[in-house]
Amino acid sequence: MATEKLALHVPSLEELCTVLQNGLQESFASVQVSVVECPDLTQHPFSFPVKGICGHPRITDVGGVPYLIPLAQIDKVYNMNTVAKEIEMPGAFILGAAAASSKSLGINAELIPLIWTENKDRCTVNSSYYSTVNMKDQTCVLGKYSDKFSDCDIALLGNLYACQGNPGKVVQIMATKRTGEYSLVTAMRKTLEKQYEKPVAMGGTFIIQKGKAKIHIMPPEFSVCPLNTDDDVNNWLKYFEVSAPLICQSVLVSKDPGLDLRVEHTHCFSHHGEGGHYYIDTTPESVEYLGYFLPAEFLYRIDRPKETHQIGRE
Ligand SMILES: [Zn+2]
Repeated sequence: MATEKLALHVPSLEELCTVLQNGLQESFASVQVSVVECPDLTQHPFSFPVKGICGHPRITDVGGVPYLIPLAQIDKVYNMNTVAKEIEMPGAFILGAAAASSKSLGINAELIPLIWTENKDRCTVNSSYYSTVNMKDQTCVLGKYSDKFSDCDIALLGNLYACQGNPGKVVQIMATKRTGEYSLVTAMRKTLEKQYEKPVAMGGTFIIQKGKAKIHIMPPEFSVCPLNTDDDVNNWLKYFEVSAPLICQSVLVSKDPGLDLRVEHTHCFSHHGEGGHYYIDTTPESVEYLGYFLPAEFLYRIDRPKETHQIGRE
């Protein structure tokens, strides 16, 4: 497994507060960005296996969309304990957005990874969710991964944030009433892209506390026909409007320094059976976001596809 490593520009949390406060005001009527102690993420609604998102944060882009389309390469499976070693942090807590392994599930599905990888003293704790579509009634199905599966694999592609899972200082973002066209994550990324010459990456978790959001879920069957255009991909994916509260895990990088990255990727779960790949809220008037983020110190590009394209990167 080939891995490329890049040191990222890491602004101070105070500086990021000022930059994001100013930038997000262009997209939301009310914005408050501040440095706070990370809330205890073992508590509801997060119920993560670790207390916080602090401790040597890093991001990794694993595989890529070219392994999913035009045709799925189902042998592209990545064990998260191996990934944790590749990113030089065995025992890391990992969150983000990925595809579930069809070898484990027997079907294709979205994965909402929340994995505390193993170390010398502790076994893997997999708190991930997966979401799929019931093709009989076209409804969203969200499940706790460890209820049915015992591995900690992802497949095809993954955008992941990893850290030691410690408590500590984080950037808190409160934003309500969207006035711009960008999602919260895109607005954050565009702000960082405008401000910084070098790539700046952030990862973390946010709650859509009020309103609804547009998501997609990949269907349980991979396409047998090659998906050659964005329209082909859109016709294959299943779209849903889902309701708050939604707990979203996000990874973003301000710009791609030539590593064939997906520059933002967010998956969400809920406690009411909905979850998947987040695009944007559909209720700009009433939406309320509350998030906790940190800038990543390093970016690791794992198993970059040799043949690439820009289809299906939204
Ligand atoms: Zn996704």
